[in-house]
Amino acid sequence: MLEADGEILKFEPWANPAAKPIVEFENVSKSFGGFAAVSDLSLKIYEREFFALLGPSGCGKTTLMRMLAGFEKPNSGRILLDGADVAPLPPNRRPFNMMFQSYALFPHLSIFDNIAFGLRRAGTSRDETQSRVEQMLGLVQLTGLGNRKPHQISGGQRQRVALARSLARRPKLLLLDEPLGALDKKLRKETQLELIDIQQKLGTTFVIVTHDQEEAMTMASRIAVMNHGKLVQVATPLDIYETPVSKYVASFIGDVNMLKGTAKRGSAKNYAFQHSESHTPLTAVSELQIAEGAVCWLAVRPEKINVSAKKMKDAPNAIEGSIQDIAYLGNITTYHVKTIAGQMMTAQVTNRGRDLALHFNAGQKVWLSWDHSSSILLKD
Ligand code: ATP
Repeated sequence: MLEADGEILKFEPWANPAAKPIVEFENVSKSFGGFAAVSDLSLKIYEREFFALLGPSGCGKTTLMRMLAGFEKPNSGRILLDGADVAPLPPNRRPFNMMFQSYALFPHLSIFDNIAFGLRRAGTSRDETQSRVEQMLGLVQLTGLGNRKPHQISGGQRQRVALARSLARRPKLLLLDEPLGALDKKLRKETQLELIDIQQKLGTTFVIVTHDQEEAMTMASRIAVMNHGKLVQVATPLDIYETPVSKYVASFIGDVNMLKGTAKRGSAKNYAFQHSESHTPLTAVSELQIAEGAVCWLAVRPEKINVSAKKMKDAPNAIEGSIQDIAYLGNITTYHVKTIAGQMMTAQVTNRGRDLALHFNAGQKVWLSWDHSSSILLKD
């Protein structure tokens, strides 16, 4: 979000056809010994984005990042920076910095000297180095700790020193390869918020590689979901979650119930979805063109499902089943329900009042219902 004259403007340069990307991949492919790690991939990243490359191990995320940094050469296609091909530029001439998961600091150097290292190598003056390092120490909330050695600070602080070191030379773009992988869960969450804060203060474009969907959802302005060297969907966290383009994306991000069936188009974009002979058809609104009788899928997120003892009046989607087990997690309760067609479904209920924690019992017959706008139709 940006502010102009008190008005909050949405930050979404990707939606503006006139906006120029800072980085552009044009039909980029990279193979290793006949194996396509990245294939025919095109992507635009805009200035000040916090862009996440997300996907399972081996999907090509790191290869894509390494090509951007100049450590690998594409077999075909081009990578552009501000509209110019970066191919002639060796890694050290690209205005990028890369922060790896194993961000080893120099153990014999002080925190100050670790952060100053790149600046000194680039011939930055003494005064400028002093002032930049102090600015960086302030940014990562380590003011006053510059004289310590890496072993005299905590793991989370070391991670912040590594970040300060990567940012000291003010790169146009910071590439972060699983930067929080070494931190425990709590510290990871805190550091994610700090990273967002630092990125917003500096306005540097960040590209992060992660296989952690929650991390990508928390931090990114947009997420590129990858599989087998290709982009499957590039969108905001909200759109990736609410309107996934495939079963793969829907299942990769968050929990989802997936029903197999056939769809019949009614008026406008309304579909009737037949999942099983035992249920009345379900409903969905979709932009997709699905041929009548073709196999497709209806996805619905567990938190969109209402659980009730009696069938809800006028519910556009209702399925009958019995509770198999209940997981009470304090803030939410998860019900695993077997439908009368034999499919397992998950519904999540928020426990707003203390006495509402356990609504239903295992074995109880219940109805699962949801709004038609919560049904996502998918072809594959
Ligand atoms: P991870 O999350 O495990 O790091 P990734 O999505 O970053 O995975 P890459 O490191 O980009 O995946 O690797 C993509 C594919 O290319 C993998 O199958 C990997 O084995 C292969 N690969 C990567 N680098 C090389 C290399 N130098 N030589 C041969 N194969 C490679």
